[in-house]
Amino acid sequence: MKERTVRLQDLLGLLHRLYPPVLAENWDNVGLQVGDPVASVSRILVCLDASEHALDEALRIGAQAIFCHHPLVFQPLKRLSTVDETGRLLFRAVREGVAIVSSHTNLDSAANGINDWLASALGVEKTLPLQAGGGDLLKLVVFVPSGYEEKVAAALFEAGAGAIGHYDSCSFRTDGVGTFRPDEASNPFIGEAGTLERVREIRLETLLTREVQGRVIQRMLKAHPYEEVAYDLVPLANRRSDVGMGRIGCLAQPTTLGAFAATVKQALGVAHVRVVGDFEQKVHKIAVCGGSGASLLGEADRQGADVLVTGDVKYHEAFSARSRKLGLIDAGHFGTEHIMVKHLAEVLRHETVSRRMDVQIEELQGEKDPFLTV
Ligand SMILES: [Zn+2]
Repeated sequence: MKERTVRLQDLLGLLHRLYPPVLAENWDNVGLQVGDPVASVSRILVCLDASEHALDEALRIGAQAIFCHHPLVFQPLKRLSTVDETGRLLFRAVREGVAIVSSHTNLDSAANGINDWLASALGVEKTLPLQAGGGDLLKLVVFVPSGYEEKVAAALFEAGAGAIGHYDSCSFRTDGVGTFRPDEASNPFIGEAGTLERVREIRLETLLTREVQGRVIQRMLKAHPYEEVAYDLVPLANRRSDVGMGRIGCLAQPTTLGAFAATVKQALGVAHVRVVGDFEQKVHKIAVCGGSGASLLGEADRQGADVLVTGDVKYHEAFSARSRKLGLIDAGHFGTEHIMVKHLAEVLRHETVSRRMDVQIEELQGEKDPFLTV
């Protein structure tokens, strides 16, 4: 099979299936920041920040798109001029035809995103989100003639419904009686035109996310024997347990805060980490949050974490951790997030290759923490 030309919108579709924008915080601005969705793309540069350095490098290697973490356009713009840093970058990106795409808090929250990569780099296993994510769960209730519920359920699960955290194929079934009267133009699976029918039906309920909604409904309608399928699709206010801010899990073996801090420093390749707590205290249950995660200190403490690893910790937050006797390791904003470059590049390489999309995925080299250690 021949590889096909890739358009920016194909890559956006792929990225957003993996890291749905609906998972981003409502103050965030993720997705396409600059660019023409129908422009063809043969090379992408992945980086933490869309900087002058990233743009220079994109042009040098012939990349038509930059996939970064931090949104370049964050506050609404009042003007697009070269007098400020953001304006200069946007101006240049437009002039040079380089698209900029950001995956920010959606990449933090999603499964196989920054926080999973961070946890795994630090040896934290069996993780769950530290703060469950919200907002895009739906309940699907479908009425199926008795005997066909397994076929319909299998189609729903196959399309991605019924997955909750580490469980799949989740559903609930109740028995009941459905009634209907087919009209003259119908071609009923059960009963005959003009006659009121009473049929034993199963009320089959399951959960799904908005990302898979289209596919699930399509497969359900295909697998269902009825001409007219009765179903309810209801938005839920429930939090999701499989995505969200930060992660919490355990080390394979307990260790001391001092030894774990050294592991963090080495695993993330940072010049130093700042530590709050007693170096000798035992740590086993670990909370992590890439970037600025000190606001999750209370949540980490409440869930019994021995230590929270994050960046951007302020004095009063450190003070609060000490009062709670919660260990705190500040490995820096850059230090806890820069790992996204190689991991996102890896994921995109894998996904584009498996879809035979002819696009090279490059990682920005030489991206540096603006903070130096003396
Ligand atoms: Zn960040």
